Amino acid sequence: MDVRPLTELYTDIRPGYYGEYGGAYVPPALNENLARLAEAFFRYKDDKEFQDEFIHYLKKYVGRPSPLYFAANLSRKVGSRIYLKREDLNHTGAHKINNTIGQVLLARRMGAKEIIAETGAGQHGVATATAAALFGIPCKVFMGAVDIERQSANVSRMKLLNAEVIPATSGTQTLADAVNEALGYFIEHPDSFYMLGSQVGPHPYPNLVGYFQSVIGQEARNQIFEAEGRLPDSIFACVGGGSNAIGLFQGFLRDNSVQIFGAEGGGEGEVPRTAATLSKGKAGVFQGTYSYCLMNEKDEPSTSYSIAAGLDYPGISPQHAFLKDSHRATYYPVSDQEAVDAYITLSRMEGIIPAIESAHAIALAMKLLKDKNQLAIVNLSGRGDKDVERKLENFIYKKFV
Ligand SMILES: *Cc1c(COP(=O)(O)O)cnc(C)c1O
Repeated sequence: MDVRPLTELYTDIRPGYYGEYGGAYVPPALNENLARLAEAFFRYKDDKEFQDEFIHYLKKYVGRPSPLYFAANLSRKVGSRIYLKREDLNHTGAHKINNTIGQVLLARRMGAKEIIAETGAGQHGVATATAAALFGIPCKVFMGAVDIERQSANVSRMKLLNAEVIPATSGTQTLADAVNEALGYFIEHPDSFYMLGSQVGPHPYPNLVGYFQSVIGQEARNQIFEAEGRLPDSIFACVGGGSNAIGLFQGFLRDNSVQIFGAEGGGEGEVPRTAATLSKGKAGVFQGTYSYCLMNEKDEPSTSYSIAAGLDYPGISPQHAFLKDSHRATYYPVSDQEAVDAYITLSRMEGIIPAIESAHAIALAMKLLKDKNQLAIVNLSGRGDKDVERKLENFIYKKFV
């Protein structure tokens, strides 16, 4: 395997870049907001008081460390030893809360008057509304009108938490459109704090989100040593914008023996019926960063599709783009059908209903680990309560009969 030297992989030679990917390609009106944010982030991230406060809320409020659970039944079925990193057990039911707690602590230090956010599955909206409620800061969440329809339980949660939910009605009315509308609002209201939910967007967001999520990989690394006394052979995560995946991957990037796999929302296969950005996209600038993006025949950013709202995004983290090109990580599309099969399998075999997003990672692990007798970690990014009412098992069943 062609792996680039470590120094090239891990040294940010230009701040905000991962190799050629990353940067901040934004309208000049945003430059000042982003510069203030970067200044605050780099000032506080290594500050003892900031870190102590972050760790305090992760432990006492989020409920960390999340368990690393040996899935014995699944392991037997697959023929490898599979551990699940239980981010589904966090307060609010997904990994997103790690990031919003980190960002709200920054927002407070920056004196923000209001918190704004975009959301796809609604999980980031709930995590944002939660963090805003905790510190009594007013909150507006932009959400695609289609996503509001398919994730109504999370919309009710946000409203109960006192957030205003604003429907994005442009384009395909999904996550990418919600990002555009939130960015527009941010430009007009520079005293607001834009809480970005994934490892995307302009510098410093990928850096900042990756930092707050790195707790996942740090814990998992310690936990697997405790349980097995060694590194895993492989690790898996689903990849929407890339935040839960980078959270886990960072704990193992330097360990060249650990194979790293990302599961993309494969949807139904071809553009635009897919969200497999790294597998099917091309390099380009999209929503403030240079990374891979799904493109149409005219090489313009196209729409995406996935059964999982949280993976339904045509862009991707610039760090994942770099990890793909450098062959440190490998990314595969996982189809809607494979994800639903894994969703049902994990529910029945382990009594754990995974988010349909996380089920993509389970599906990829089940496929690649079949009879391999490997030691593996799969990031269970969130719980599936939000998906249960959709009766996914019937949806696919009807479609294929
Ligand atoms: C949002 C979400 C994802 C996808 O986002 P990433 O930034 O790629 O992690 C995955 N799983 C769950 C449960 C989510 O809520």
